[in-house]
Amino acid sequence: MVARTAPVHAPITQFSTRDNQLVIGPYTATELAARVGMTPFYAYDSGLIRQRVAALRDIMPPALHIHYAVKANPMPAVIQLLEELVDGLDVASAGEIRLALDSGVEPALVSFAGPGKSDSELAAAVSAGVVVNLESEGEMRRLAAQGERLGITPRVAVRVNPAFELKTSGMKMGGGPKPFGVDEERVPQMLSELSALGLSFQGFHIFAGSQNLKAEAIIEAQNLSLELATRLAEGLPVAPSWVNIGGGLGIPYFPGERPLDLDPIAANLERLCEAARRQLQGAHLVMELGRYLVAEAGVYIAEVVDRKHSRGDTYLITNGGLHHHLAASGNFGQVIRKNYPVCIGNRIDFPEQEQVNIVGPLCTPLDILADKVTLPRADVGDLVVVFQSGAYGYSASPHGFLSHPPPGQVLV
Ligand SMILES: *Cc1c(COP(=O)(O)O)cnc(C)c1O
Repeated sequence: MVARTAPVHAPITQFSTRDNQLVIGPYTATELAARVGMTPFYAYDSGLIRQRVAALRDIMPPALHIHYAVKANPMPAVIQLLEELVDGLDVASAGEIRLALDSGVEPALVSFAGPGKSDSELAAAVSAGVVVNLESEGEMRRLAAQGERLGITPRVAVRVNPAFELKTSGMKMGGGPKPFGVDEERVPQMLSELSALGLSFQGFHIFAGSQNLKAEAIIEAQNLSLELATRLAEGLPVAPSWVNIGGGLGIPYFPGERPLDLDPIAANLERLCEAARRQLQGAHLVMELGRYLVAEAGVYIAEVVDRKHSRGDTYLITNGGLHHHLAASGNFGQVIRKNYPVCIGNRIDFPEQEQVNIVGPLCTPLDILADKVTLPRADVGDLVVVFQSGAYGYSASPHGFLSHPPPGQVLV
């Protein structure tokens, strides 16, 4: 019989080590904790973010525009860094519009998506000159009214809810009934009303889903997106200037997951950029990425405050948990809880290993950072590092729950 081996995490190779410690930016884990002045905290490595964007630019066709989806990590210093590296910023609230504009980005390179935009958010977008991705006919009419009131012609894109969906995606955001975008079959009617209302049409936004690790599924969704945009653009008085074909590039979080193979996606995008240029009168393609640009550059670091045994299990109790990192606790969209990759940041190699459960300080059994992991033996004061934490960490967690202090946050 062949022994079945349990799937393990893909090795974390982006960080180096020094003095038996994990190195983030120029700091060892212990130095970084001292530099931040507190635990727990999030730290994002700017060198790794730069490398990630450079590697993408290297492999992707030069005509492809890359946007950063701010909701993945809205820390101002991170937005500032990415603003210099990418071609535009995608936002999903008036607060994110302000954060984006603070980076100095040109307003026309900001697009504002998301269902349920209020009149005041629409007015803020029109005044700023950012592009509004329309999510419904009602929103289009309310936007036109704001434009009229302000005496400014709103720049708009139409977010299309395609009839297809992104297969094997972590989060599906297109296909079937959805609160996002306008069903593709209703878009032609909407476009004629749009031009009657005098809105300035910029492009189409088609976002099928997120966190996908299968190149073939992404390629298929991108092909279908461009076909759809081409069909919708037929007979329009103004051709779209761009088509945002979504992103969906995933990163490996859990045992058994492997990094995405970008080569076939890049080769296909080369073809699609050329097709867009020919079929859509020079329109360019946009790919919007959140986690792919930042997730692997970030860590969450908490300190062990207690070690205890319970009926044969060892618990490391840390000062950080679900309230800071909902996703690592398994409560942000996971159906079956799986561990994020973790390490003891100040004991990379240690002769004595043990199996532990790492939990947070909250009075709920949901507050788990790692379940039954084998790690170097750790004591009170040691640093637990949760990898792949640069996206949907700090801002996607319920800091108020149980009234502990919020985590620190640094870009190094
Ligand atoms: C959340 C979101 C993204 C970013 O998704 P990632 O998985 O972080 O890349 C991109 N576009 C839209 C419309 C989104 O809502």
